[in-house]
Amino acid sequence: MCGSYRKACACGERVCEIFFGKMVLDERSIAEVYCPKCSQGVKRESDNKVWDNGWVLELNMDAVRARATMMGIAPEAVTASWVFDEGYATWVGLTPDDFQRREVERTEIQKLAKTDLRAYINAMREWGRAREKRLEEEGWRKVKHR
Ligand SMILES: [Zn+2]
Repeated sequence: MCGSYRKACACGERVCEIFFGKMVLDERSIAEVYCPKCSQGVKRESDNKVWDNGWVLELNMDAVRARATMMGIAPEAVTASWVFDEGYATWVGLTPDDFQRREVERTEIQKLAKTDLRAYINAMREWGRAREKRLEEEGWRKVKHR
């Protein structure tokens, strides 16, 4: 998909998908991604990282600052959290590996479509609602900031 980028985390166990809003930034602005397992030793206080439920998105701030004016912010004012919350470099879905989890869950429900279309439509609707609620309870950054 144009404008998105898949990257394995530092320990290589998980993969996340990153979306670059308005196509200002690209993969050169992503330094590293840590999953909840490999983020354990990562320092919290810094301007180049965004924390989200144990996941960490670490940006290459030189690459980000070089395009700050295109994002309408002063290079010295830009932080990783700002970039993430404004959607210039953020998860494709609501969570880092939403793209995988969503597919697995949806495939389960789609089996219903072959046997009972009405039940399928209801199940899809119910799934969407339950999913939003679960992600909100889990406290994902994109869900909270909407
Ligand atoms: Zn990891």
